[in-house]
Amino acid sequence: MDAEQLREHAHKMVDFIADYYKSIESFPVLSQVEFLDCGSRGACSHRNLYLESFNNCIVNVSPGYLNKLLPDSAPVHPESLQNVLAGKYVQTKILPGVTHWQSPEYFAYFPSNSSTAGFLGEMLSAGLNIVGFSWVTSPAATELEVIVLDWLAKMLKLPSDFLSQGQGGGVIQGTASEAVLVVLLAARDNFLRRFGKNSLPKLVAYASDQAHASMQKACQIAGIHPENCRVLRTESSNNYSLSPSILREAIAKDVEAGLIPCFLSATIVINGSLACYLQVGTTSSTAVDPLFELGKITKDNEMWHHVDAAYAGSACICPEYRHYIDGVEEADSFNMNAHKWFLTNFDCSVLWVKDRNALIQSLSTNPEYLKNKASQGNMVVDYKDWQIPLGRRFRSLKLWMVLRLYGVENLQSYIRNHIKLAKHFEELVGLDQRFEIVAPRTFALVCFRLRAPQNDEDCGNKLNKNLLEAVNATGKIFISHTVLSGKYILRFAVGAPLTEERHIETAWKVLQEEATALLGGTGA
Ligand code: PLP
Repeated sequence: MDAEQLREHAHKMVDFIADYYKSIESFPVLSQVEFLDCGSRGACSHRNLYLESFNNCIVNVSPGYLNKLLPDSAPVHPESLQNVLAGKYVQTKILPGVTHWQSPEYFAYFPSNSSTAGFLGEMLSAGLNIVGFSWVTSPAATELEVIVLDWLAKMLKLPSDFLSQGQGGGVIQGTASEAVLVVLLAARDNFLRRFGKNSLPKLVAYASDQAHASMQKACQIAGIHPENCRVLRTESSNNYSLSPSILREAIAKDVEAGLIPCFLSATIVINGSLACYLQVGTTSSTAVDPLFELGKITKDNEMWHHVDAAYAGSACICPEYRHYIDGVEEADSFNMNAHKWFLTNFDCSVLWVKDRNALIQSLSTNPEYLKNKASQGNMVVDYKDWQIPLGRRFRSLKLWMVLRLYGVENLQSYIRNHIKLAKHFEELVGLDQRFEIVAPRTFALVCFRLRAPQNDEDCGNKLNKNLLEAVNATGKIFISHTVLSGKYILRFAVGAPLTEERHIETAWKVLQEEATALLGGTGA
């Protein structure tokens, strides 16, 4: 690495990225790869802006578009950064195929936050480019991760069992999917040690029918028999939270059949195929997976209890939202994605366990070529034994930067502001009789839809699907959907760092206009 070349090029890159953020509102939020060429209604204004800013370079943008635009082999001779960035490639060929997750008009799925602090942390991490699998490979990387995760655990008021001083501790995984996998592996191996290696076909894992698909995938990878991955029914009347009596019944039935209940994943935000739906409702306490009661059941049955707070965990740093994780003291592991709603650039999924040895027993390896005095002396944390891969990035730097450069108070205000904006959106929806709110809003996600004409749900579903497509085709905003109890529902997740009240109002206007175009008439 040539230091002077880095200085020069990195400045140019930062300028490029800063300009991108400055003009981010001029891009169609959802990449218009599929729409650019079809002249779809509503796409035009954004499209023109968009093409103008790219000197009309884009032609025929459709799936597979990039393959047609890029050469079919790597360049033999070096090219200039200027050429790659602004000239031939990034600006004109890559950006058109990008969906702008950092746009203030991005309201789809859940947010994936970026911030100056998170970005700088990423930059520093890329600059140092260490691979901190064992303490000795970069002591600061391991030690900072331990410290920062203890800080965050204290901010969340997690029980002290999850802190590093005792038997527990935190570790940064890439994603919540990896988090649930590693704890499921730890739980599985724990049970195999107790009941014998041949008991694998008897192990049963439980989650509600609203749990994230990552739970299903973890079961597949961990070798839990597909029929033993219990998907427990939830009811809309219970805001889709997992009922303790249903769990108890399922466990009793399995025990009677000679099976071994081993794992429960409880979510405090319900999520199906990335089409997420809050089950934690302010108006109804039953909307929360009742962690305490579920925890008692898992304790009675000596099962592993994992709490997945991938999205909502961030909000629990605010005292007024902390109660949503009351009962976490009964859990064995707890996970939240700092890369979702905590201003920390992707990826940074934080997992705490009460018994780090459970992870280590399941995931450690000790090859000769990695042996060193500190590890052999059992004096240090070697994070390679808490995760699937060997190599790991210095991810704690970005979380540390976020905590230091914002401070707890600003992080709390950040969360509160999004929740306030979501409330504002919910109020706007409530003023238009054509729409209905379909689930209690607790955090910053609003689930709503156009009412089904004459209570014809099939027609209602088509209508809402068409509305979603029309709205996203405008390029002005991006929202996503889910299906609950057979109903097609629109999701509006506030959480992009740049979103302000004016963006909420614009988004609502787009939704109303597209609804009017679909329904006919003059609107609300
Ligand atoms: N669990 C919940 C509750 C989620 O909301 C999500 C993602 O939206 C996940 C798990 C999966 O997250 P990841 O992409 O980090 O695996």
